[in-house]
Amino acid sequence: MTDAATKPTPRPSSLPAKPRIYSGIQPTGRPHLGNDLGAIRNYVALQDRYEAIYCIVDYHALTHVHDPEVLRRQTLEMAAALIALGLDPKRCTVFVQSHRPEVTELCWLFNTVTPVGWLQRTPTYKEKRANQPEDVNHGLLTYPVLQAADIALPKASLVPIGKDQAPHLELTREIVRAFNARYGETFPEPKAVYTEAPVVLGTDGVKKMSKSIGNTIEVLAEPDMIRKQVMSMMTDTQRILRTDPGRPQVCNVCQLHRHFGDDYEEIWEGERTARAGCVDTKKLLAQRIIDHYAPARETYRELMADPVRLRGILDEGAERIRPIAEATMAEVRERMGLR
Ligand code: ADP
Repeated sequence: MTDAATKPTPRPSSLPAKPRIYSGIQPTGRPHLGNDLGAIRNYVALQDRYEAIYCIVDYHALTHVHDPEVLRRQTLEMAAALIALGLDPKRCTVFVQSHRPEVTELCWLFNTVTPVGWLQRTPTYKEKRANQPEDVNHGLLTYPVLQAADIALPKASLVPIGKDQAPHLELTREIVRAFNARYGETFPEPKAVYTEAPVVLGTDGVKKMSKSIGNTIEVLAEPDMIRKQVMSMMTDTQRILRTDPGRPQVCNVCQLHRHFGDDYEEIWEGERTARAGCVDTKKLLAQRIIDHYAPARETYRELMADPVRLRGILDEGAERIRPIAEATMAEVRERMGLR
């Protein structure tokens, strides 16, 4: 874990005694390798070290998911996936963003300290506008303010995320700083916590793995699907013939082997000496991913077969953070002259 966790910043006195960590994930399909290696692994690792709060951010998803049934189903799927991948609702809090609507109030209040230029400059806003030109809703612009509110509501000081989220977290820090400057020290400036794989490339080997790009390897998919996705991966583009030596340092398949076994250097050597072909290396990777996630796949199936239990876990999560959310909002309203 490469993190800022070992170097905490001085914290305002109204903060919780034990640092809180928070991270949100959109309910937009089953998690992929980038989500797990880049973020979820840290969610799991950090749940014992800190007071950990994880949120399925359905308000955020509304900026591009417009079918209520799809949103409801995907919210449950993400909850099941997070638990299957290692979150233990007894050791951390898992809840759905819209179940604690205080966050929308905080988002509005943060809007009033956020210059619009900061939002227009956000690289993801430009990207999203290009991705869905027929649906440039205001939520796309305000997205980072809601994200700042998500993190600030529980006064989290550490945020496990992938590197793609770094500009958003920087904006959260600026928004919190702007609020603190105007109304007095209220929120900590949160820091990112990265895994050893802060940017996982997609099957195209060029862009980051992302649901919206469609270059993913879904970790909880059926084995055949995982095999298909891994076999479609780009390898070293300069390796044309089976007898050509490969360059593991630029081959995404070789890079992913780092995370699925201690023998990756041996695998790399096989590529360098052309002892192994790209297809062999991909088949091995596919099998290792399938085996690694087999227990999680099983738990995921069991959880999805019991939606009542899942909803119970999410209701409990929302109740658990109710006092935290209420205390923050009472303090904020007081500071802003609203009560
Ligand atoms: P997506 O980009 O597929 O829509 P999300 O935005 O829901 O994924 O991301 C959830 C978490 O997973 C975030 O913390 C994000 O930084 C992390 N993440 C997503 N894709 C990657 C990736 N390719 N490499 C590393 N981390 C990633």
